[in-house]
Amino acid sequence: AVSIRNLSHAFGALTVLHELSLDIEPGEYLVLLGPSGSGKTTLLSILGGFLQPTKGEVLIDGRDCTRMPPAKRPTTTVFQDYALFPHMSVGANVAFGLRMNGVAKAERARQARETLALVGLEQALDKKPHQLSGGQRQRVALARALVMKPRLLLLDEPLGALDLGLRRQMQEELKAIQKRVGTAFVHVTHDQEEAMALADVLLVMQDGRIVDQGDPERVYTRPSTRFSATFMGENT
Ligand code: ATP
Repeated sequence: AVSIRNLSHAFGALTVLHELSLDIEPGEYLVLLGPSGSGKTTLLSILGGFLQPTKGEVLIDGRDCTRMPPAKRPTTTVFQDYALFPHMSVGANVAFGLRMNGVAKAERARQARETLALVGLEQALDKKPHQLSGGQRQRVALARALVMKPRLLLLDEPLGALDLGLRRQMQEELKAIQKRVGTAFVHVTHDQEEAMALADVLLVMQDGRIVDQGDPERVYTRPSTRFSATFMGENT
């Protein structure tokens, strides 16, 4: 399990996270929902090790990971732009992190194939990223993160670059893949419909604070703060 304790972050004089505490259970799909500037990306960056918090700690399976660099901690991040290596095959992209960790070639190939099968893309192993559709590239990025067997997978607006139809289709795929692998996901979005479709646990943020948290249906039908009532009511 992941335990976030009294986490605060300030950029200079501007405090953007205020004493957040939160537990993430194994296998949970957590969605961070909130308007622009509410601190979602900052929280995700701290969980991924790209940013060190001003205060507080992040424990993963009881281990203090607060100041561990991204490559050393049991988390991986999927970025909105996928950040695939254009000159490498899909298989090499997926195996890249394993290569960095010194995993032998045959084993890398086996794990890359297995993980691509998990996201329904085994046929794309030898293709280059530019030969794939947006949704397929997104699944390669997911496979590249999953192959590292993280305790926590972090997704920053992972469907933000896709058009609406594909976005809704990929939501279902993402949820199915998450349930299949059983890894805890933390997914940042400002799309309420996406949040409702995906979340086991929905967390609503405003101005660096968690203003509502729990079962998405409950948050939607019985919001516990005025802000979440207003925010969840918009565009729905
Ligand atoms: P969005 O949905 O627009 O990505 P967000 O909820 O992810 O927003 P953050 O990106 O975490 O919000 O930003 C929270 C606050 O911190 C904002 O006021 C933002 O301007 C500020 N901020 C973010 N990064 C920096 C930085 N590197 N330096 C200074 N201020 C920053």
